Amino acid sequence: MQDVIVVGAGPAGSTAAKYTSEAGLNTLIIEKDNLPRDKTCAGAVSSQALKSLDYDIPKHLVKRQCFGARVRYGGHVLESRSERQVASMVSRKEFDNYLTSKAVDSGSALFQNTRVKSVDVKRDFVEVNTTAGVFKSKALIGADGVSSVCARCVRPRFKSDEIAFSLAAEIPVSGEYVDENILDIVEFHFDKVKKGYGWIFPKDKYLSVGIGGINAVKTSKPLKSYNDFISGLGFDYVKPRGHFLPIGGIKRRICNNRVLLAGDAAGFVDAFLGEGISYAIISGKLAAETLIDAYQKNNFSESLLYNYQDRCDYEFGDNLKYSYMLSRIFYRYPDVFAKMLATNEPMLYRFIHLVTGGSGYASFIKWLLPRMPYYTAKNFIPL
Ligand SMILES: Cc1cc2nc3c(=O)[nH]c(=O)nc-3n(C[C@H](O)[C@H](O)[C@H](O)COP(=O)(O)OP(=O)(O)OC[C@H]3O[C@@H](n4cnc5c(N)ncnc54)[C@H](O)[C@@H]3O)c2cc1C
Repeated sequence: MQDVIVVGAGPAGSTAAKYTSEAGLNTLIIEKDNLPRDKTCAGAVSSQALKSLDYDIPKHLVKRQCFGARVRYGGHVLESRSERQVASMVSRKEFDNYLTSKAVDSGSALFQNTRVKSVDVKRDFVEVNTTAGVFKSKALIGADGVSSVCARCVRPRFKSDEIAFSLAAEIPVSGEYVDENILDIVEFHFDKVKKGYGWIFPKDKYLSVGIGGINAVKTSKPLKSYNDFISGLGFDYVKPRGHFLPIGGIKRRICNNRVLLAGDAAGFVDAFLGEGISYAIISGKLAAETLIDAYQKNNFSESLLYNYQDRCDYEFGDNLKYSYMLSRIFYRYPDVFAKMLATNEPMLYRFIHLVTGGSGYASFIKWLLPRMPYYTAKNFIPL
């Protein structure tokens, strides 16, 4: 019998496993793929995410450091830079593998190529049924992503309007091309997909390019949006990979007796930008700390584990809630908001600090609200 089973070796699972094994808990990570595994992602790790790790990422994992953003909307282009780093660009295959190696170095056991089929919560333990047999543990952290199997014993499946869809590809280009055209900024196109955006993020010798949005599957044709976006940029066609993301900021249950959900499995993704790595790392850590406390008290009941829900709410609940609120308004009226962002430098500067995680959505909205009448008038009436 394990003390803890962690399902999924993404940022949430690896972070959780590192902390539980460091605390002396006998921890097993179960991962369906062979590591290092591919992960469909734009690979922008925010400064907030890096700060949440209690170790540094080796330099060779960072393909580029970004210090600004360029926004495009309906012919308008605006660029702004920050004195602070906005994000580090990584390959998720390498980044996630490094995080998992930290968990293994701390004493976690790793079962790869083993898919969890179902989880049964018994009175005194959790039974995890996998393609490699049955495992038992006192408690379980479900960090198995947006289509979480573990979540089935905690909450209903995400409804279709609670998930976003994204298509992403890696476009090979020369390092010189990146230096000349993008260099060290992230680029957002707010007129390429309904209720979402297209992005170009620079890496060393390739660009991460894609489109994504809330309700993108229902309200638009994502493949057509992607194809139009790529051909408009003049790149050769690269077949994209699609992936769902949960929309964060919606109140959901994230724990039950002996089971905690972390990262995408818990629905912790910023609804406006689609950023999820930092929330995966933070929630993985909080889930581990909650279980360490549960071990000390020998109490794995829902009432004690509910502390985890409170701590997640306290740490980032408001940020996810306000990002959800902003995404609903912004993407409903792109002609007002996206245009404003692509034409007002002070607003873009504030936006950059949302990307860094340096300032939250509440302060962005608070800053924007009193300026709305002026910016709106400026958009429609040449002043
Ligand atoms: C196209 C796209 C672009 C994105 N770009 C960014 C970005 O630039 N920056 C950012 O911060 N966020 C981005 N995100 C969001 C980010 O990828 C996720 O929020 C983040 O990966 C969540 O981490 P996680 O550990 O919760 O889940 P994941 O990274 O999804 O890891 C879950 C792990 O569980 C494993 N697993 C799944 N099911 C099972 C099972 N049944 N049994 C065993 N193992 C299982 C999976 O193989 C995987 O390794 C993007 C998402 C998409 C789709």
